[in-house]
Amino acid sequence: MLSTMQDVPLLISRILTHGSAVHGSSRVTTWTGDAEPHRRTFAEIGARSAQLAHALSDELGVSGDDRVATLMWNNAEHVEAYFAIPSMGAVLHTLNLRLPAEQLVWIVNHAADKVVIVNGSLIPLIAPLLPQLPTVEHVVVSGPGDRAPLAGAAARVHEYEELIAGRPTAYDWPELDERRAAAMCYTSGTTGDPKGVVYSHRSIYLHSMQVNMTQSMGLTDEDTSLVVVPQFHVNAWGLPHATFMTGVNMLMPDRFLQPAPLAEMIERERPSHAAAVPTIWQGLLGELTARPRDVSFLGQVTIGGAACPPSLMAAFDRLGMRVCHAWGMTETSPLGTVARPPAHAVGTDEEFAYRLTQGRFPASVEGRLTGADGERLPWDGKSAGELEVRGPWIAGAYYNGPDAEPLRPDDKFSEDGWLKTGDVGTISPDGFLTLTDRAKDVIKSGGEWISSVELENALMSHPDVAEAAVVAVPDEKWGERPLATVVLRPGATADFQTLRTFLAEEGRIARWQLPERWTIVESVPKTSVGKFDKKVLRRQYAEGELD
Ligand code: ADP
Repeated sequence: MLSTMQDVPLLISRILTHGSAVHGSSRVTTWTGDAEPHRRTFAEIGARSAQLAHALSDELGVSGDDRVATLMWNNAEHVEAYFAIPSMGAVLHTLNLRLPAEQLVWIVNHAADKVVIVNGSLIPLIAPLLPQLPTVEHVVVSGPGDRAPLAGAAARVHEYEELIAGRPTAYDWPELDERRAAAMCYTSGTTGDPKGVVYSHRSIYLHSMQVNMTQSMGLTDEDTSLVVVPQFHVNAWGLPHATFMTGVNMLMPDRFLQPAPLAEMIERERPSHAAAVPTIWQGLLGELTARPRDVSFLGQVTIGGAACPPSLMAAFDRLGMRVCHAWGMTETSPLGTVARPPAHAVGTDEEFAYRLTQGRFPASVEGRLTGADGERLPWDGKSAGELEVRGPWIAGAYYNGPDAEPLRPDDKFSEDGWLKTGDVGTISPDGFLTLTDRAKDVIKSGGEWISSVELENALMSHPDVAEAAVVAVPDEKWGERPLATVVLRPGATADFQTLRTFLAEEGRIARWQLPERWTIVESVPKTSVGKFDKKVLRRQYAEGELD
């Protein structure tokens, strides 16, 4: 028998109308560099989202599931696009502004974007590409920046503020099927072409509720969240949607992502929460070490996207910024696991170790480990295998055009539909996931595996080391051996021998795993979302650039 409950679809428009009414005075603050930051209430964002939706439908002819792309920093207008586009039934496509031009072109054409909303400062990036983007009929420009490069574009060019001005501040949001596409995001294509993940209204709604749970980020309208993780990196980890559910204020850094302005906005705006990948926080730590200031009000820092080095967690703890480590992927919306220590470990010696794991699955995400021969491995904290996941906000396929069958490559999905993450690790009997490495980054030396992450973490715990990335390089005798690429702190003098001895001390790293190949660089190359780019390091080594 069916239930007797109302069948109300879980829609982005419901999050918007709730947030702009019930939490109407909560604010989105956008950093502007020097002048006063720009402040806009949730009520204003609600009204302007309605105006944007009217402009897109009445003026630009957006209808059905047309794709509207954004090439934008984190700011209030980007939040408006986040809500207006899906709420009216169209599909928000966030473009990663750090992708190489040819990948951006490929992605825009693959998604067949009709409109691109772009920040003025990013015009130099999009303007030269427009001739290769035949589906783009309209470019909408928001914020400061020279418009000249857009002169002569075949697409019609609009000013964001002029476009929305004077339009009705309410919109009769359609009652959509909650399984319809709301937003899409392409993986960065480290192997092969980028892959499009299409989120539904339902998946985003449920994911946002999880983000808000105490076991995840657990923020309230007393909090201000500094959203450093870009809105083009898996929907800023769900924060814009989640904050509209609970009235959490957002502090948006716009294009000011360097350590010094980040430290300044933290000092001036006093956020209580922040979220970003480890490399951003390593940079901030350097800044706070060079120019110390009180940041203890920043009580919770969510770190994910790559493993959090223990030395970073410990350093942040000392500054009063408590790190919460989480794991996820573009395909998992991204929240997959969160490392909140279990009650029995809080205040004990075990607590730190629990916090360093990737964490536990929330109720809606199921995880399992698969061994090399496809066998299921036990949750015993020892058996290592590939992590597979499933749940209502986990991708079940990739986008392949509006009328084509979605793609389900065998290396990405199991026969029974679970997502193969490409991450290798163990799960403890009490459900804590520990990732040893990405399958493609693990170093296979003489039939044994060396974890690149373990070597990096050990290196980064040396006081002279600012950053360390370890990759596998070919070796005649062993098949592969680790190459350690190290960035030293300013003024540091450690040499390879010192670092090697340090790794061997106190059983940090087993002797046979110690790297024989070392290189010191100015900075480790980063991917478009700020992670160590190991593909580039491997190539540089192969081309003799790292000797
Ligand atoms: P990309 O492939 O471009 O890096 P994603 O942002 O989707 O795109 O990356 C997801 C991957 O990032 C995961 O499969 C995992 O390898 C890594 N990752 C994310 N969070 C963590 C974490 N907390 N610890 C270790 N690895 C992580």
